[in-house]
Formats: sequence, structure tokens, C-alpha cells
Amino acid sequence: MAISLLNLSHAMSRFTTINSYHLGFSVLLGVIGFLINLYPIPLFANVELVLGNTVMVIVAVLLGPWYALLSATIAVTGLMLVWDSPHVYLLFTLEAIFLGLARRRDIYALYASGVYWLLMGAPLLYLYAQTFLDVPPEHMPFAIIKQVINGLICTSLASIIIILTPWLWNFKGKIVDKRRRAFSSQLTYCVTLLITLCLLSSSLIYNYVSLEKQQILISESLEETAEHIATATEKYLNNHLKVVANAAHLLSISQTKSQDWQTWLKSIHQNYPSFATMIIADLNALVVAASPDVLFTELSKDKQLASIKDREYFTQAFVQQKNYLSPAFIGRGYGRDPIVAISAPFYANGDMSTEKKPIGIIEGSLDLRNFNSLESHNSHRLMQGLVIIDSNNKVVYSSKELALPIMSDFSYSDGTGLYNTRLNLINLHNLYPFVPEYIHAKRTLSNNWQVFILDPFSPLLSVAREQLFNSFLVLLISLVATFFISRKISQLLTEPLKIIAEEFNPLRDNKVQLQLLDDATSREVYSLHQRLIKSKRKLITHQLELEETVALRTQELEAANERLQVLVDKDPLTGMYNRRYAENKFAELREFCHRSGQAMTIAILDLDHFKKINDTYGHQAGDECLKQVAHCLSEFFTRDTDIVARFGGEEFILILPMSNALHIQQHLNEFRETLAATIIQSPLDEQTFQVCASIGAITANANWNKDLDRWLKVADDNLYQAKEQGRNQSVVSLISDEPRTAKQ
Ligand code: GH3
Ligand code: MG
Ligand code: MG
Repeated sequence: MAISLLNLSHAMSRFTTINSYHLGFSVLLGVIGFLINLYPIPLFANVELVLGNTVMVIVAVLLGPWYALLSATIAVTGLMLVWDSPHVYLLFTLEAIFLGLARRRDIYALYASGVYWLLMGAPLLYLYAQTFLDVPPEHMPFAIIKQVINGLICTSLASIIIILTPWLWNFKGKIVDKRRRAFSSQLTYCVTLLITLCLLSSSLIYNYVSLEKQQILISESLEETAEHIATATEKYLNNHLKVVANAAHLLSISQTKSQDWQTWLKSIHQNYPSFATMIIADLNALVVAASPDVLFTELSKDKQLASIKDREYFTQAFVQQKNYLSPAFIGRGYGRDPIVAISAPFYANGDMSTEKKPIGIIEGSLDLRNFNSLESHNSHRLMQGLVIIDSNNKVVYSSKELALPIMSDFSYSDGTGLYNTRLNLINLHNLYPFVPEYIHAKRTLSNNWQVFILDPFSPLLSVAREQLFNSFLVLLISLVATFFISRKISQLLTEPLKIIAEEFNPLRDNKVQLQLLDDATSREVYSLHQRLIKSKRKLITHQLELEETVALRTQELEAANERLQVLVDKDPLTGMYNRRYAENKFAELREFCHRSGQAMTIAILDLDHFKKINDTYGHQAGDECLKQVAHCLSEFFTRDTDIVARFGGEEFILILPMSNALHIQQHLNEFRETLAATIIQSPLDEQTFQVCASIGAITANANWNKDLDRWLKVADDNLYQAKEQGRNQSVVSLISDEPRTAKQ
């Protein structure tokens, strides 16, 4: 329980410790992303490249998921303003968190992005589009793939920016790799980044350019066809207008009698079979001649049907006296076909007056279905459809494939919508489809008729989709290839380095055969190897030299130590052992005597009136005197076990183990006399003098006391006594059962 609470507080502290610098950085990048996202780069159709999300990847890689979430929220708001679709918040904030969490586990951003779009982004987008948008199923993979490609472009762009500009992101507390990365994975990632970015951007550019070209070609072809068909239609109508006008003129001047009009009209009609029917009406608007004959017979039966007074083509030609082309209408009486009527007035023979009055009209009905002859002018007929509408916006003609009923009202909507294209897009059947229906070109004729040439939009969209799919496929294949190639390249580089490292490994098992660098090893690595070998040789030589020097120095040091030891133990003036040495040696000699149950003697010898010698013969003579005393001592006390040392100033100490208590005093006195008899010469003025000494001594069993000071105290007291008693004598305490003092 306690542990889980601890973990919880630890986790909380991770959330609550907000670094204000990191916070500011995330907000700044978020705002930059926001601005970039306000301007998506339009590609073909509804494909737009959104680059602002790059910032959130940068923040995710540098600062982890929560700062990335902040940046993403700000940046995506820009996209929300442009696209007006809240799904961007869901998709991209999740991506930011995912990338940040992956970064904490040392997973490279691009790999994480790939996994995100595969496992979460694409399914989420699919569900969202299915639920909230009216996306046709065939459009779905396209919508998803373009989003995935966009995501991958942003991630690789961000990663490359971070790699190329390390100084920009060099701040405290950023996320660093937990473990060092292997060279092969670094190389693979760098190549993957480059391939992804280059391949996707170049294929997007290539696709864009090629689609641009195709659009230009389609536009040009449509415009050309529209021009061509418009001219042909205009010509067709004008020709028929002329035919009727000429017929009227002919009738005006030919003096053909009214009873012959039927025959005359028939002969004219035979020459122009594209007219479904032709009639002549008199000044009372009664049809007086009609072709074909059956029509005339029909009309003769029904006087009411024969009257065309209410017809626009009559009034226009007869009253307004002009050659008239009607809008489309359904014929009445002479079959119920959709037609346009062309009419012209004719006059009585020779009526040349300015206010001439027509005596009737000639009318020809063009069957709209005959307009298909116009389509034969269109060389792209298989792809392109034709619609002709009249001045009343009624469909006069429609290609079969378009299936627009003749005489129906022509209604359409602008299909451009979200689509970025240089084409004129139009919808005919479904005014608000998800994908625009047709690309079109249109012309308006002089009689306000309009000619539309239409090309279905979907094939072009299919090409765009196919290109995007292909790019994606090529990317996947390239990434697999990249993986293997990068591993091979890194092997080429690292294998020789491994061999070199093994060769110079100090813990290497020498029994294992060394691998040799092969011929494929690069020149740089090979020369590194050579240099390392040279350095190693130099190092070994240097080491040997060093060892030799160290041995020499050690020898010298030992000799110096020995010399020092001599200095430490000996008195420089007399060359005798000094007090320190004597004191150290005492314990050893006492122990020795103690073991063998022997007595030992400690004696202190002090020169008498030595100060006077100094004063009388000089300090150097004093020194010489001390040397002579030392010499005498060493000559006299010759046993190996005897220690004779200068105790300080003109005092000497004698440690004489295994002493004979009975003879010791005599022995000391002998020396004293020898010394007193010794002639000493001053080195300066060669004056001679003699010196005598007082001796205080103690002879006791070695086990008497361990402490030298106790021995010295007795000896010193005896010395004092010797001095007191007149000098040049020795006082010895024999400590056995009861102390006894001897004197001479
Ligand atoms: P006493 O008979 O009472 O021992 O008289 P003393 O003059 O020998 O004793 P004192 O302690 O008064 O004088 C010792 C002198 O020994 C004093 C000092 O200058 C001299 N002396 C001590 N060490 C050296 C030395 O190394 N060289 C020389 N030349 N003189 C020394
Ligand atoms: Mg003295
Ligand atoms: Mg003295």
C-alpha cells in the first residue's frame, strides 16, 4: 500500500513539475504550427499537404507526450479553422501523445508514427468518416492513405530538422536516449527518414505536375471540342434558317399558285430531310400545305389543328416579319416529338412596298433527335458527352450516356467545392455529390443556346488515387530495401571495427585465432588499424623503458634509504651509533640477556672539564677530542654484542651485555686509564692535550627492569657521584640481592 502510494506521488510529481522554459517552448512551437496549418499546401483534388503538425513531432521528441499534447492542440486549431472538422483534434493530439510516449521508450519518431497510423490513426479516421461524413466506400482508402502520407512527411521532416540543427534544441531537461543506440539502427533510421521524405515529397510533386499536365490536356481538348461543336451547331441552325428563308423568298417571287404549294413544299422538303415536317400557313394562320403528305391529310381533317395562330413561330414570322428560330417544344398535331421550329414570312408577288404585308409563313420543324449528327463532329465522342440547351434552359440534345431527358430543365451545380483544380467542375445528376461528376467546357451561341461538353471527373481522380497508392507502395518496398541495405552498410563499417577492437582487447583469449581485416575494409578503417598497431608498438617500447627507469630509480632509492638509515642511526661527527640507536637496541639486548639469565651493564661516560678543552684549544680541538674518545671506545669495547654510542655532547653510553659483575668496574677503569693516557693533538695548532672521563654505571640482572630510563637514572646518579667525588673515576652499582656501590 505504502509503495503504491509512493509510486502514485512519484507519478503525480512528474505531472505537476512543469518546467516554465519547456512550457514556453511548447507554446511557441504550437503557435508556429498554428500559423503554418492555416495555409495547407493544396495539391490535386482535395489532397492538401499540412506541415504545421511538424512542430508537435519536434516537441514530442524533445520534451515528451504532455508538452507535445499542448503544442498539438494549439497547432491543430489552425487546421480546425481551415477544415472545420473536429476529428483533427482527436487524430493529431493522440498522435502527439503516442509519439511522446514512444520517445520515452527510445523508439524513433518515424517508426512510432508508422505504428500509430497503422494501429490507431487509420482505424479512427475510418470510423469517424463512416459515422460523421458521407464518404463513399471507394474513396475511403484514398482519404486514409493521404492522411497517413501526410503524417509520415511531417514526422520525417521534424526528425530531419532535429538532426540537422542540433544547436537549436540544446537545452536542459530534454529527453535523452536511455541506452546508446547501435550504429546500424542509427544508420537505418537516417536512411529511412531520407527515403521517406524524398520519396513522398518527390512523388507528390511528380504526381502534381503530371496531373497538372493531364488537366491542361483535358481542358484544351474540352475547349476545342466545345468550340467545334458550337460552331457546328450554329452552322447547322443557320443553314436551316437559311433554307426556310430561301424557301420563303422563293415562294414570294415564284408566283406559285396556292394550290401548287403542297407539291412545291414537298419538293423542297425532299431536299432537306433533317426537317421532320414542313408547313405553309396562309395569312389566317391556317396550314395550307404540309409535308409529308400524311401530315397534310391529317390536318385537312381537323380545321382546329390546322390553325397555328397561337404559335410563336407564326406570330414571330408573320407579325414581326422575321426569320425565327423557336426554343425547343413538344410538337402538337404533327406528332409529339421534341422539336424546334424555324419560320419565315413570304409575300405576294412583287410586293416591293416598304410596308409590305406577308401573305403567309413557311415553317420547318427540326427534330431534336437529329442533333446526334452534330456529335459525329466530336472526335473524342467516346469519352466526352454533349448537352445542348436552348434559350429557355431546356435540354435540346443530350448524349445518350448522360441520359438527360430532352426538353427537361437543365439544372446543374458547381462541382469545384473543396477540390483544388484548374478544371471547371460541374454536377448534373447529383447536385451535391462527394466527388464532382464532370469536367466541362461551354459555349453560348448567338441565339443564346448553350453547348456543354462534359468529361467524367472520376477517371482523373482514379489516376490521382492510383498515383498516391503507387507512391505508398513504392515507399513500403523502399523501406524494406532500406532496412536490408542499411544493415549491410553498417556491417561493412562496424565489422572491421569489431575485429580491431578485439585485436586490442586486453582481456582477449590469446588462444583464439585473431580475425584479419579483409579486402572490403575501407581505406579509412584500414589506416586506423595501421596507426593503432604503430601506437601499440610505441606504447610497449615506452612501457619497457619506463619499467627499466623505475627499476633503476628503485635501486637508487634503496641506496638512499640505506644511507638515510645510517644517518638516522649514527652520529656524524664521531661515526659512532647515536642515542636513538642505543635506546632501540637496549630492549633487544636486554631480552637476549634475560633469556640467558645474564647480567648487563649500562654505563654513562662524561668527559671531565670538556668545556675547558673547548675554551683552551678551540672547538675543533674539542671535536677532535670527541673523535679520539670514540676511537678509544671502539678499540676497547670490541665484543660484537657491546654497544657504544654517543649519548649527546661529550657523553657516551655503553651497553655491555653478559657483563661479569665482578670485573666490570675494573674493566671500566682500564678504559678510563687508557683514555687518560691518550695524547690528543689539536688539528689547528697541533697542541697536545689529554682528557679524562667520569663513568657512572649499573650492572644488574637483565630482568631487573625493562625500562631503560630506570637503568639510566642509576647510571646517571653514579656519574654525578663520580663527578662530585673529584672526577676521573667510575662509580658502579651492582644490583643483585642488595645494591652495592664500588668506587675507585
Ligand atoms: P664536567 O667535568 O662537569 O663534565 O665539566 P664539563 O666542562 O665537561 O661539562 P659541561 O656540561 O659544563 O660542558 C660540556 C661542554 O661540552 C659544553 C659544550 O660546549 C661542549 N660540547 C658539547 N658537544 C660538543 C661538540 O660536539 N664539540 C665540541 N667541541 N664541544 C662540545
Ligand atoms: Mg657532560
Ligand atoms: Mg663533562
